[in-house]
Amino acid sequence: MNNVALAGMTLGELEQFLKGMNEQKFRAAQLFAWISRGARSFGEMRDLGLSLRKKLDESSALRSSVVAKIETDRDGAVKLGLLLGGGAAVEAVLLPANGRYTACLSTQAGCPVGCVFCKTGSLGFLRNLSAAEIVEQFLELDALCAGNVSNIVVMGMGEPLLNLEALRKALEIITSPEGRGLSKRRITISTSGIIAGIAELAEKGPDAELALSITTAREDLRGRLIKGAGPVSLRDLKNALVRWQQKHRRRITLETVLLGGINTGGEDAEALVRFARGLRTVVNIIPWNPVEGLSFEGNALVPPAQSETAFFRRQLESAGLNVTCRFRRGRGISGACGQLGALPDTGK
Ligand code: SAH
Ligand code: SF4
Repeated sequence: MNNVALAGMTLGELEQFLKGMNEQKFRAAQLFAWISRGARSFGEMRDLGLSLRKKLDESSALRSSVVAKIETDRDGAVKLGLLLGGGAAVEAVLLPANGRYTACLSTQAGCPVGCVFCKTGSLGFLRNLSAAEIVEQFLELDALCAGNVSNIVVMGMGEPLLNLEALRKALEIITSPEGRGLSKRRITISTSGIIAGIAELAEKGPDAELALSITTAREDLRGRLIKGAGPVSLRDLKNALVRWQQKHRRRITLETVLLGGINTGGEDAEALVRFARGLRTVVNIIPWNPVEGLSFEGNALVPPAQSETAFFRRQLESAGLNVTCRFRRGRGISGACGQLGALPDTGK
């Protein structure tokens, strides 16, 4: 009995797998194409031949997760809850824009980084997702929009660079020209700032867009907000970004979630401007999306006032930075940035 879901196998692995069943190589390409088109059973893979379909059915599983819930927001965002093996659960989000769709994928159940402003962080860390569990989020979201996902943002639950091996494999599968063939240029990986992971991305890829959740460039405050990461030197972090940019020659997105009264002042803006100097960046301002019960050093967190956001933005722009402000889609279903937090009992 093979316990590994076939959705998490690369074409090369499927070839090996079928070779072990004394099947010909071209069968793997057929199987890979079916899986990436979203097939849910071996029965529908008509060109595989009856005896192979039967053999596969008896020996293997196509997928490893089960859809537990699908919620649609008034603004069109769809939140998907998946139940994984071992009682873990995870959420992923589909964001429509002009007839195209972006899939926001998770890489861990919970998150060890523990940012004080993030619901996922408040759950603690359960485990890393497998490549299959990441690919399956994509396949489910792609099915919800008739195969029209054009972009991926790895901005769901968890810290992608602490599960880079599984993520790399999942993206290899999703971008494979023999399969779904999604463009590598349309993938963005967001990290809270794992320096070793950024260095590894620069060396080994995947060659995706990079977003850094800087949040604030005041090192001391940052260490208190992004608690579980331990002390991170902003100088080392910036050096890692410089090296990544030397290799990839792309703009880096600096995401900063604005927390009312905490990281929205002139000092924060100045520190961010200094951090961005020497890098090609676009700053993405994300007004904090409310999560009940979260606080920072004894005070409940609140979204920034409009005037705070406007002030912060002006400060950055007048220093010559490119700034965008993140949409808040998915809020009505707690599917916006930082609001994801499926718990093991969501499968009702
Ligand atoms: N772990 C990765 C990717 C997932 S979080 C990271 O931290 O980058 C994706 C983005 O959501 C991050 O930029 C994070 O700062 C932001 N975020 C977390 N909680 C939020 C909240 N409650 N409101 C708005 N943005 C939030
Ligand atoms: Fe983890 Fe990102 Fe949430 Fe921080 S913001 S706890 S790194 S998912």
